[in-house]
Amino acid sequence: MNIIADTHTHTISSTHAFSTVQEMVKAAADMHLYAIALTDHGYTMPGAPGRWFFESLFTIPEVLYGVRVLKGVEANVADFKGSLDMEKSVLKSLEWVVASMHGVTLKEKKPSIEKCTQAWLNIAENPDVNVIGHSGTPEYKYDYERVIPILAKNGKLIEINNGSFRFRKGSMDNCVQIARVCKKYGARIVVNTDSHFSTAVGHVEDAMAILKDIDFPQKLIVNSSLDSFKGYLKEHNINC
Ligand SMILES: [Zn+2]
Ligand SMILES: [Zn+2]
Repeated sequence: MNIIADTHTHTISSTHAFSTVQEMVKAAADMHLYAIALTDHGYTMPGAPGRWFFESLFTIPEVLYGVRVLKGVEANVADFKGSLDMEKSVLKSLEWVVASMHGVTLKEKKPSIEKCTQAWLNIAENPDVNVIGHSGTPEYKYDYERVIPILAKNGKLIEINNGSFRFRKGSMDNCVQIARVCKKYGARIVVNTDSHFSTAVGHVEDAMAILKDIDFPQKLIVNSSLDSFKGYLKEHNINC
């Protein structure tokens, strides 16, 4: 099984990623993807672009090299009330919003499970958020049984992030637990690369292997077929 859309990727605009928009989209075309989401980091990540960058993303064609290009952001969770580091008006102007916790932008380094649970429960109520990004990060463990059913009810996609298995030590075990809880509650997931270089676009082999191991139902992987992905875009009034 492979993906037909990679909805969490970074370009040189994040300044710690190394491929241009053209190179990323071309790589998506080479992987025969239907869509790619450009999700450079929100303002508070060191070196991240500013408001004017996100407000100018509309200048990139909607379809490039035959690939639907979703204009988005990976917003940083700014606190344990679930605030994001971007203005609501900017988030609303974007097509795809991933919300993620990062050690470099969250002040508290070892929060309790209860604090992280509250943050995600509040983000579950944020209508601007599409994806809960790499939530298997060990430092920010939350109560999966409490949060995941609410995320599912509110149409949020829980990400299984292929890049995390290399960059976030210990996240694989958490991702297996998260996927099991998603399966139990019928919560939809999205499998992404979090690519910081074009050669990684569309490669989710490790994530697919753990999902196969637990017999995860394909119908819950929103970017595993054109029908389910376009269905999600339509539900959220995003152009297909
Ligand atoms: Zn991230
Ligand atoms: Zn990322």
